[in-house]
Amino acid sequence: MTTINEAEAREAVLARNAAYDGRFLFGVVTTGIFCRPSCTSRQAKPENLRFFDNAGSAVSAGFRACKRCKPERQQSQNKMVDVARYIEAHSDEKITLSMLSDRFELSSAHLQKAFSATFGLSPKAFQNGIRQQQFKSLLRDADSVTDALYAAGYGSTSRVYDNSNDQLGMTPGAYRKGAEGETIYYVSGKTQLGLLMLAATEQGVCFAMFGDTENELEELLKAEFPDAAINRASDHAHIDMWFQQIEQYLLADQPLPDIPVDLRGTAFQLRVWQFLQTIASGDVVSYSDVAIGIDKPSAVRAAASACAKNRVAILVPCHRVLRGDGGIGGYRWGVDTKRDLLALEKS
Ligand SMILES: [Zn+2]
Repeated sequence: MTTINEAEAREAVLARNAAYDGRFLFGVVTTGIFCRPSCTSRQAKPENLRFFDNAGSAVSAGFRACKRCKPERQQSQNKMVDVARYIEAHSDEKITLSMLSDRFELSSAHLQKAFSATFGLSPKAFQNGIRQQQFKSLLRDADSVTDALYAAGYGSTSRVYDNSNDQLGMTPGAYRKGAEGETIYYVSGKTQLGLLMLAATEQGVCFAMFGDTENELEELLKAEFPDAAINRASDHAHIDMWFQQIEQYLLADQPLPDIPVDLRGTAFQLRVWQFLQTIASGDVVSYSDVAIGIDKPSAVRAAASACAKNRVAILVPCHRVLRGDGGIGGYRWGVDTKRDLLALEKS
């Protein structure tokens, strides 16, 4: 490796330090798989680690890319982060796709596709978002929009869940689910998978559930947040926008952009839910993978129960967890919905 020494790399792998993503990759000789430093897969013995500068050299050494952390995507993502930084720095100017394609020496079609795959929205939508300040909630704790998006998991499928409280907008005292003194706004509407109600606090989406009738969903929302004032959203463009983005996603039209969530639960539930957010669309894991992922390998049943208590469908993708034998497992909003979601994400 050219930029960092092996001792530093070992330490980064041990700490699953996402700050090293993009700087090197590591392979595990016993499994033949290579990963990013932040990969949440079970850790290998230090003596079995091998280090590489890039995916190409890992592949030529006989390693296969990890399905969980998708290390082969890293380099393309780094370039897309450069593109995003450029847009951010010039957000008040007119930027066309062909200008970007000249500057970054990529075809327009490839650039559009790779940018959307990395950030969940097109370069144009990204620029609009900056202009309209729609990423305010992400901006609070970051120096720039790009850093905020990247830190929020756009650029890396493996968020470091232990450090994600800021990204999730939770204050340490906000674990109570009653949310006293808070106002929650909701919208609802038909989607490809049925009636969906989406509700949000100032921090982000706290409730996304499918149901048969609006009344039933409203009752459910009140029961989940008994101390909050609950109102239908009237002048809340961001909630409408999030709803539309989810709707588009369910039509297999658009990748899902990063929509801020406001999770309330026990410390254990939060770890499970945050871990679920690291599972990429199209991937599935087992309940025991979840337990291992949060460093509680024996807590498989508790992990399954935390998945079942998820109140933010789709955005906290509990549908990506299957039984250990590959069986579909349960789903709060019906096994058929789970199956449809998985089929959508596979395609
Ligand atoms: Zn991996």
